[in-house]
Amino acid sequence: MDQRELLVNGARELDIELSERQVEQFMMYKALLQEWNEKMNLTAITEDIEVITKHFLDCMTVNNALDMNEKRTVIDIGTGAGFPGLVMKIAFPNLKVTLVDALKKRLVFLEEVISKLELTDIECIHSRAEDLGKNKSYREGFDICASRAVANLAVLSEYTLPFVKVDGYLIALKGQKLDEELEQGKKAIKILGGQLDEVVDAKVPFTELNHKIAKIKKVKPTASKYPRKAGEPTKAPLGVEK
Ligand code: SAM
Repeated sequence: MDQRELLVNGARELDIELSERQVEQFMMYKALLQEWNEKMNLTAITEDIEVITKHFLDCMTVNNALDMNEKRTVIDIGTGAGFPGLVMKIAFPNLKVTLVDALKKRLVFLEEVISKLELTDIECIHSRAEDLGKNKSYREGFDICASRAVANLAVLSEYTLPFVKVDGYLIALKGQKLDEELEQGKKAIKILGGQLDEVVDAKVPFTELNHKIAKIKKVKPTASKYPRKAGEPTKAPLGVEK
């Protein structure tokens, strides 16, 4: 199977039909990631097949948690080189996507990919989650917050739930240790107005990876004192005994 077939067949296993244009966009994204990664540290995963499986298909598993074909607004906190938010935008062009990261150089890369791929309805913001979460234009402004590999759930909930509208969802892409994280993070999720809706299986096609997704519903507005100031959520995670 060549790279394009791997991408198309893998996406199909996740109920996603990619057009030729979308496949082309993923291939350009991969080439830019590999090229820029030689100058700056964007990802440890650089080999063609692995970029397709461990980045692109892994991020597309969000479709197991929620039907992404509806028109929705999405914010990705700690997007790094665009995972999962930029992958979601390419795979589901109907989404309106905001990518956020605290590291400026990653945003420069993302702007370049967005421009080369001629994507619209997508913006990049250089900010820490704790600062942007206080901004009225963004707070409780999104149907979905998606995030991968940024922090454990106790911390991640404080970074992300303030952005989610009531009745919207936090979609947290996680590995096998989700149960432990949920146990540790359950108080924080409740304090911030969330409720675990479902743990979703996210087997990554053509790999041995059996990832999990925490699908957390926003059931109440987040109290205005959250998020606390930058650095506090990691220093003293909400609801976790010292
Ligand atoms: N989500 C990407 C992925 O799965 O490949 C990147 C993961 S990387 C391990 C974590 C990213 O989160 C980094 O790009 C870092 O700059 C960003 N990050 C960490 N804490 C953050 C915060 N408080 N606000 C915004 N971005 C943050």
